[in-house]
Amino acid sequence: MRLVLVGPPGAGKGTQAQILSSKLGVPHISTGDLFRAHISQQTDLGKEVQEYLDAGELVPDEVTNEMVRERLAQADATGGFLLDGFPRNVSQADVLGGLLAASGHRLDAVLEFRIDEDVVVERLLARGRTDDKEDVIRHRQQVYRTETAPLLDYYADIVVSIDAVGDVEEISERALRALRDAK
Ligand code: ADP
Repeated sequence: MRLVLVGPPGAGKGTQAQILSSKLGVPHISTGDLFRAHISQQTDLGKEVQEYLDAGELVPDEVTNEMVRERLAQADATGGFLLDGFPRNVSQADVLGGLLAASGHRLDAVLEFRIDEDVVVERLLARGRTDDKEDVIRHRQQVYRTETAPLLDYYADIVVSIDAVGDVEEISERALRALRDAK
């Protein structure tokens, strides 16, 4: 299965991605995690992207797209994947479509996490990652609304939406059921 998760920062995509990845037997690929790994290992890419993460801005598309292209070319991702945090704008979605088409594939579904902005801001403030300061959180929500939410129209034909408020287990069941019903 080739799946993309879309939802505002703090919607619980990372948590669900881990569960769904093991249930569906495909690797979880999180661009946020990949960037944070580069930053903690102080690679050249890490040094280049740190300021964007700290400010809650999107990393420039050339950098992000290339990192994703390399990751998707790895052996474990050839049979399917669960992308978390990519694409985050329409231009990245075009690039992803091109990469998949080149190998004769396409996305099976885009799973949308629906949740109120006030709820996610509360959660992120409680989480306390280095980019979880209130002004940065608000900015990430705004970037989501303007850059990422348009993907829901772009992918209208394959969007599967779920209510992302509830217990972790309840939400993964909802997601699996919704994906099954969408087939
Ligand atoms: P959250 O969902 O809380 O925003 P992520 O871990 O998904 O957290 O992303 C953290 C940061 O990593 C983003 O604010 C952005 O700076 C960067 N990032 C992640 N994915 C992308 C992407 N596809 N394009 C550009 N920047 C990205």
